[in-house]
Amino acid sequence: MKAVYFEKFGERDVLQYGEFPTPKPQAGEALVRVRACGLNHLDIWLRKGSMQFPLPHIVGSDVAGIIEEVNGASDLKVGDEVVINPERACGTCERCQKGKACGLVLLLGRQANGGYAEYISVSLEQIYHKPKHLSFTEAAAFPLTYLTAWHALHTRAQLEVGETLFVWGASGSIGPAITQIAKHIGAHVIAAARSDDAAKIIQSWGADEIVVYPNVNVSERVKELTQGKGVDVVFESVGEKTFSQSLAMLKPYGRVVVIGATSGEKVSFNLSEFYPKQFSIIGSRMGTKEEFEQVLALIDAGKLKPVIDKVLPLHEAAAAQQRMEEGKHFGKIVLGVS
Ligand SMILES: [Zn+2]
Repeated sequence: MKAVYFEKFGERDVLQYGEFPTPKPQAGEALVRVRACGLNHLDIWLRKGSMQFPLPHIVGSDVAGIIEEVNGASDLKVGDEVVINPERACGTCERCQKGKACGLVLLLGRQANGGYAEYISVSLEQIYHKPKHLSFTEAAAFPLTYLTAWHALHTRAQLEVGETLFVWGASGSIGPAITQIAKHIGAHVIAAARSDDAAKIIQSWGADEIVVYPNVNVSERVKELTQGKGVDVVFESVGEKTFSQSLAMLKPYGRVVVIGATSGEKVSFNLSEFYPKQFSIIGSRMGTKEEFEQVLALIDAGKLKPVIDKVLPLHEAAAAQQRMEEGKHFGKIVLGVS
């Protein structure tokens, strides 16, 4: 099969497009012909060697395609149009036993070869029928981001109807998921945008108010927009550059939910407001199988809708990753695989 893979860690020039052995589905797996694969920042971190694993390797966690072969008992048939849950929980760790997100989770494109390829082999448990009204491209644009956003806002931060959410980094891959899920919950959404053009796009995804930085003090502007009260929840994915402002804009009992730290991981803050105002800092990562099914049901019902930035062919994976690294994207970049 054709695939984009790398034999050593490094910059985009390590990505090679060429022949790669077609996987054989093991017992309990199906072979899926990939029709589309969504990009995530994870693909870039893995290619750069932020975690070590055997090479050569194929990244790509968000896949939609067609069943080619089924090896095991399943309702799935050859020819079915499907979307893949990128994660598989171990089922045995303490967190799994308690119904929480698995600590040893296996992620498609990380522990197993992913979707920058014509075929993948994946556990039958991870395969779901594609919502009929979605194209393959749209179906490959939601799994990891919508699962991450749902787990962070609904399960971890317990965002409620009538509360106010502030979002950093709302224009990127996860922006539509965060904005749409918060609006679905019934929250008021204020988002940061780096330009007026970005502001218009984020507003089109449903955000109620936008703070265009860097020309303003964001936390002060948020305080003004909330009549001095501040917000209930801040969605943090930036880290070092924004964390002190995230705390400064919280109202009493406010929560900061952290899913990443793209600008750096070391933060410091003054505890003098932290405990009197009863703040919470909440870590969040991916989600559970049940949460994936909740998100899929909302997408199937048309209540959430994936947003595509750009579709590029598989052999242009390096250009697709460049677009993501340069932060030029609004919504999901997707590789189309014929
Ligand atoms: Zn587990």
